[in-house]
Amino acid sequence: MSIYLALILLGVASGMNIASCNDNTGFTLVPNMNGFTVYVDEYTLGILDNESESMDEFGTTRTYRECLAHATSEARIRLASRTVNDAVFLNTLQQVPLKISNDGVEHFAYSGKCAQGCVYSFLPERLIRDIANSPDLFIHEYAHVLHLATESSSQSKAQAEAYSKFMADERSLLEITYSQPYIPGSCCFWYAATNKYEFFAVTSQAFFLEGSEQRWDWPTTSALLQSESPAAFNVAESYWGISEEELIAAMSECKVPWFELLSDEQWVAILSGIVALLVITIAFVCYYFSCWKKCFKKASPKDDAKFETNEFL
Ligand SMILES: [Zn+2]
Repeated sequence: MSIYLALILLGVASGMNIASCNDNTGFTLVPNMNGFTVYVDEYTLGILDNESESMDEFGTTRTYRECLAHATSEARIRLASRTVNDAVFLNTLQQVPLKISNDGVEHFAYSGKCAQGCVYSFLPERLIRDIANSPDLFIHEYAHVLHLATESSSQSKAQAEAYSKFMADERSLLEITYSQPYIPGSCCFWYAATNKYEFFAVTSQAFFLEGSEQRWDWPTTSALLQSESPAAFNVAESYWGISEEELIAAMSECKVPWFELLSDEQWVAILSGIVALLVITIAFVCYYFSCWKKCFKKASPKDDAKFETNEFL
């Protein structure tokens, strides 16, 4: 029973956490990723030099390896042009690896806090194609890295206010402008409205768009972000332009929850211990109150007689 319960609890606790992000067993480091640390599993390593579905502006197909190099290169170029002395990349983003494996359904996510953990995908072909075609999508996950490392910063507080303003005033007018009703909890056009974290990640995507690039959900361009939610645009500008001193000060106040640091083996040990302790406690209580046979054995008239004469004791 204890093993069964432990497996259930392990299932609840499983998924990527900082400990599993730090475990690179079975992963290979991909070289030349423009300063980003990229790890891939054996399956992804095997497809890296295959042609991807992604094409550049001349219609040339790239390999998956070239797609990854393109996405990371574009991210570095855009970050360098909108951050101060590359402070955000050097102090937060470069510490968080991208891990790609073929063992789940999640498309793209960040697991971690305080510039720890990893950005990960369980869908290699789709993810690599998507970030090559839309480098702003790659920036989306790393915007979460910046945000969750600096929640005590003045930029983070301004960002929460910009999100509240968007939800209270701006969004309802934009629903009419775009003929797109907002349905709480839904994805798609109003994904930015999900919560303040997605609001920052999605508005950062728009902030980093270049030239004629356009997104399909709100905000579709950097210029429209500036005119439709000026506070969000100003936050994106000041957050990505944060100085190294402000960044380090905010990060020094960032704390990682202890359970994020436990490995799967440690979770199994803890949960098994809890279940064993419960079983021992129940057994002791039953014995103590002389109900042992009622709990674990069908009573018989003969046993009752023994029980009454304390033969079990
Ligand atoms: Zn997100």
